[in-house]
Amino acid sequence: MSSESGHWFRTQVLLIGYSMVVWIGGLKSIRLFLWDTLKLELFYIGGHCKSSGHCCKGLNIVVGGDRIETIRQFEAACVSNPSYSRFLPQINHGTISHFECRCLSSENRCGDYLGRPKICRDYPHSMFIHHGYIFAGCGYTVLPKRFSRRLWIPRNIRHSLDVIRSINSRA
Ligand code: SF4
Ligand code: SF4
Repeated sequence: MSSESGHWFRTQVLLIGYSMVVWIGGLKSIRLFLWDTLKLELFYIGGHCKSSGHCCKGLNIVVGGDRIETIRQFEAACVSNPSYSRFLPQINHGTISHFECRCLSSENRCGDYLGRPKICRDYPHSMFIHHGYIFAGCGYTVLPKRFSRRLWIPRNIRHSLDVIRSINSRA
């Protein structure tokens, strides 16, 4: 079996397995793990950084699969991960819409590159994993893997994958 055939087979089994877990209403943690694995099997990230600074001015922080939206949640996150204290919450209608980072220089360079938090080191993969897309103005882009066109997609997850394809097909 060639490596592409092996990849196709593994992903097809994963698609069916994930679809069944969704159908029976399996544990959220298992669903999240399988969904994240599936996304990385079906898509890859191309392109390169163009130093726009969008990622450092439009951050979202996700803990345990949930986006931080209140100051209380943010304070708790800073206690468990003090490196988050560099992020400035931006409030819109009483909830945190996003964070800006005080380490970003006027040239859109990271002022603490070696000490940057894991969510920065994991970008852009973390953005794709948590949100299913990458900033429209980012030099990185999410692309479908070539073999994914030959897969059979179960109906109950087809829409979610179509949404990912559609939001990442922006010019
Ligand atoms: S948004 Fe993308 S292009 Fe802009 S600084 Fe971040 S990684 Fe680079
Ligand atoms: S620590 Fe650096 S990479 Fe992370 S958000 Fe701040 S400026 Fe950007």
